[in-house]
Amino acid sequence: MSASPLPGDASAEFLPFTRPTIDDETIAGVVEVLRSGWITTGPWNTRFEQALSEYFGGRTVRAFNSGTVTMEIALRMMGVGPGDEVITTPLSWVATANVVLAVGARPVFVDIDPVTRNLDAAQVKAAVGERTRVLLPVHLAGLPCDLDALYDIASRRGLRVLEDAAQAIGSSWRGRRVGSFGDYASFSFHPNKNATSIEGGCLVLPADADPGLAERYRLQGVRRFGIDGMDVDLVGGKANLTDVAARVGWGQLQRVDEFNARRRELARAYFAQLDALELPARGVELPVRDEHHSNWHMFQVVLPRGVVRAEVMQALKSRGIGSGVHYPPIHLFSLYRKLGFAPGDFPHAERVGAGILTLPLFPGMRDGDVARVAQALSAVLRESGV
Ligand SMILES: *Cc1c(COP(=O)(O)O)cnc(C)c1O
Repeated sequence: MSASPLPGDASAEFLPFTRPTIDDETIAGVVEVLRSGWITTGPWNTRFEQALSEYFGGRTVRAFNSGTVTMEIALRMMGVGPGDEVITTPLSWVATANVVLAVGARPVFVDIDPVTRNLDAAQVKAAVGERTRVLLPVHLAGLPCDLDALYDIASRRGLRVLEDAAQAIGSSWRGRRVGSFGDYASFSFHPNKNATSIEGGCLVLPADADPGLAERYRLQGVRRFGIDGMDVDLVGGKANLTDVAARVGWGQLQRVDEFNARRRELARAYFAQLDALELPARGVELPVRDEHHSNWHMFQVVLPRGVVRAEVMQALKSRGIGSGVHYPPIHLFSLYRKLGFAPGDFPHAERVGAGILTLPLFPGMRDGDVARVAQALSAVLRESGV
């Protein structure tokens, strides 16, 4: 153990809202890759993809260098482009809607269910139109969307589904792992996610998709044959995962279920603490008390109307506690307002987006940290008159 803790170390005084757990086995593995003579996409990328495939019930998986590019490539594989519409949520990381714009299609937002904070399936059904090609639900904070309802709409209306499962590795729906069934599912391995490859992502492919096409979009459209043959027949990008990153991701995948179990334990502790401090009665909205489906990527509360979130965050910070905002609603960003979206379009997403606060939650947290955060939040809210 190093004597001086790194910034954000769980043993240091400041408690960040998240922090990756990288073990010594992974660090040693990375050193081996660095010394091996092959550091970009190679044997470890293949091994990582195989391990992911096993994790997702034997389905075909390809890895990429970000969750964002993973989704963009999925849309390209489906042939989504200008004139097409993709139905998605305004309450997500902006990448979810940006990739729709990147392929030249139009994002059609549908409001969230304020309790789950995920897409409201009834409103999705009503939003399907002539130009709709894809449903792009997001499993926010790792809580799965109503996949029965969404896949039912998709099959009735002949739509594809791309699950933005960036936050949902290890989450399950009716006992089945997210990504182990359904259509396309995209995951992210950003350091804030439940498993990381530093940067990275992966796409679980449906049976009718060609993994070779995913590989061509991943690397300049290149197709190789024989010992010296090469052709290019589509515009691919540069989205391949390095073996160094793949080695980190593989090491994380070995432990993700253990990490998620620890997250679930901490989430349970949050409910006990926040209930004891009567925060729900004081107007603070807690997440869904989900014991089985969520991987507890985040523990988010929604502050009561009238409380200034920035002040709460500042006050927590001065008590040595980090917090985050995930997310401001996408449709209110300038880029999206220029496309015609306006305040009032999605009232639930706007209210939740204005009050949502992510509390610290990561596997390296100590049990006592949860009580410390809950008590600090309670005290800070008292100062705001809550
Ligand atoms: C993290 C995230 C992404 C993007 O993943 P990157 O790996 O950062 O590109 C997309 N959607 C959601 C919901 C995310 O949380």
